Amino acid sequence: MLIDNHGREINYLRLAVTDRCNLRCFYCMPENGIKYMHRNDLLTFEEMTRLIRVFGDLGISKIRITGGEPFVRKGIVDFLEDIAALKTVEEIHITTNGTFTLDQIPSLEKIGIKSINLSLDSLDRQRFFDITRRDLFDHVFGTYQQLIASSIKVKVNMVVMQGRNIEDIYPMLELTKHDNVSVRFIEEMPFNGTEGQGNPTFWPAPKILDYIKDRYSIVKLIDPPASTSLNYQIEGHVGAFGIIPAYTRSFCGSCNRVRLTPQGTLRTCLYGEGQINFRDLIRQGATDEMLGDHLIKVVGKRAKDGFEAEKARDHMQPASESMATIGG
Ligand code: SAM
Ligand code: SF4
Repeated sequence: MLIDNHGREINYLRLAVTDRCNLRCFYCMPENGIKYMHRNDLLTFEEMTRLIRVFGDLGISKIRITGGEPFVRKGIVDFLEDIAALKTVEEIHITTNGTFTLDQIPSLEKIGIKSINLSLDSLDRQRFFDITRRDLFDHVFGTYQQLIASSIKVKVNMVVMQGRNIEDIYPMLELTKHDNVSVRFIEEMPFNGTEGQGNPTFWPAPKILDYIKDRYSIVKLIDPPASTSLNYQIEGHVGAFGIIPAYTRSFCGSCNRVRLTPQGTLRTCLYGEGQINFRDLIRQGATDEMLGDHLIKVVGKRAKDGFEAEKARDHMQPASESMATIGG
């Protein structure tokens, strides 16, 4: 078991397999994109597989594949198959924008992917375009329907933003009436790749909840251990919904995760800076034992919560890099 310096068990790795993406969600990236890393600077799939194996021996059994958009990286399905075969990997989850995912669903079912979080910020084609700057709503919604019909558990991620998609909250909840889906309303965070602009369209979690209660009669569900979402169900609906206080950061006390960026930097908190670069260690010839020791060392020095991690950033820079370089 991997335990941090605050007594929290760490068993979950969020792995961003690329920083590249075909959408330009305004809350994640500027319109003209971000400066992508050089291909040679990205971890190779072999390096990622090795790290998952080494981390697995120390207790990390749940993996989330994210990005950038994971399905823009060539070879991703073979990689998923490889890591699914590792003895220590108990669960693989994926977060995707759903634009290249449709054709892969049968392979993902076969591999045994446990759940897919589909990012979908609006059910209206124009609003989807205004948020993502790409006209791909029909495609993404087609992916949603196909996923619902599959054996993979489906969650929808919707970042809630003033003036952008508040009118989508109720239609999203209507999806839960007949579909076995969990719709998660996420507070906007400042990771938009734009220095100093923060998150001006921010809607706090309590406001989202009040807005939902104005229309629906809801029941509180028991939150799974280390859940980042507060989970509810509308009476009579098949699916559920959750609210993620990602900016308020009220869930840090049970945080069970670490992150690996596409270039191999390990981050023990979304709001902090990277602690150590595993790509460099691997390319300098580190043994498995050395890699494991480094993981144990950084996990032993974690910030208590996202506020402490943010305060410790170099030069007190507020967190502003693109989420595509961290993985969400
Ligand atoms: N491209 C994939 C996708 O969009 O699902 C995976 C990567 S994306 C960075 C992971 C998640 O982070 C998405 O659900 C996205 O909505 C969320 N995200 C990105 N920027 C965010 C921000 N500034 N605040 C809150 N959530 C954000
Ligand atoms: Fe791409 Fe996902 Fe960022 Fe949107 S949120 S720009 S889909 S990485």
